[in-house]
Amino acid sequence: MIRFESVSKRYPDGTTAVDGLSFEVAEGELVTLVGPSGCGKTTTMKMVNRLTDPTGGRIFVEGRDIAEADPVRLRRRIGYVIQQTGLFPHRTVLDNTATVPYLTGWKKPKARARAAELLELVGLDPAVHGPRYPDQLSGGERQRVGVARALAADPPVLLMDEPFGAVDPVVRDRLQKEFLRLQASLHKTVLLVTHDIEEAVRLGDRIAVYGQGRIEQYDTPAGVLGAPASPYVAEFVGTDRALKQLSVTGIEPGDLEHPPFARLGEPAAEAAARLRAEGARWAVVLDDEGGLHGWVGTEESAGASGNVSAHARRMEAWVPVGGSLKDAFSEMLKYDAGWVAVVDGPRFLGVLTPVTLHEALRRAIGSDEQGVPREEAEVDSVPTE
Ligand code: ADP
Repeated sequence: MIRFESVSKRYPDGTTAVDGLSFEVAEGELVTLVGPSGCGKTTTMKMVNRLTDPTGGRIFVEGRDIAEADPVRLRRRIGYVIQQTGLFPHRTVLDNTATVPYLTGWKKPKARARAAELLELVGLDPAVHGPRYPDQLSGGERQRVGVARALAADPPVLLMDEPFGAVDPVVRDRLQKEFLRLQASLHKTVLLVTHDIEEAVRLGDRIAVYGQGRIEQYDTPAGVLGAPASPYVAEFVGTDRALKQLSVTGIEPGDLEHPPFARLGEPAAEAAARLRAEGARWAVVLDDEGGLHGWVGTEESAGASGNVSAHARRMEAWVPVGGSLKDAFSEMLKYDAGWVAVVDGPRFLGVLTPVTLHEALRRAIGSDEQGVPREEAEVDSVPTE
């Protein structure tokens, strides 16, 4: 969708902002450009919508060399979101959002209807926020209007330059989540500039880590965190990359342990005797379809009357398969639990314990250099309440 071929940019004063850049962004992919200030990220971005032109190499958008494209028509295919939003202060939010439809000759009512739709899409109420002026909005709301405006002409490509940089961390977190949700349904091809590795990891399908004027590594978040291509990248992603890796590593069925289980309809005393004979102090309780119902302690149900269902307790800590190791870890901390159940819809797949969590993380990092020997990580895996 976007392809850079040996692209360089030397400004008239002799500054080389980017040098021999080659990379490709597939359709529907969100690529984050991350690196310290002054390394050429914004220049890269501005060459895509021809706010500035390369001094060497070629850039293709939708298969066409943009050097031959009319910049105005090109920009209609490319939404642009910048940190300071660039909203017109003397126009209402609704009219700001309708800027591009107006420019492309839409009639006012149609353009406004489209703008109202977009405001709703980014979580604003057109009736409340539409008539306001930009300075009557919070920073987060202004940023949402910036996104709505960029989407107005339904461009296949979005360029976002530090879009969430000007808001506080709580609002940034919310905007990032909202944007990911939006992107999951819109599938735009997105280039997003940030200086924040956390943001790059969280949002990007792939990350371009910039050194001075060049890309040092172009890879998935797990690739960049797990196997930094150079000491420079390793330093940039930080020494806590194992922690960051938690949030980008999905739980896989192979990571799971399979604890003993009891059936809901089994007599409790029988189940307890069977499980205790196996040395189990607790068991997962499953229904007839293999769905997760809860868990039961084998000591307290020994000699108890009734079925397992009468003694089962709620399983507080659980995550869906496909969730991240970080999700599992937070559940563990939240409920002070020794294990977290992993489910696929209603179906119980297995549990993650601190030991298996650590092993999964080590698999993802692809090295055991920071590994803790298994015996040291071993903990009592009985859930606590
Ligand atoms: P980043 O977005 O990574 O902070 P930029 O692309 O803005 O980096 O800048 C890359 C380099 O190019 C910097 O050294 C910057 O000072 C320089 N630069 C950017 N714009 C211009 C310009 N219009 N004229 C001269 N130098 C520029």
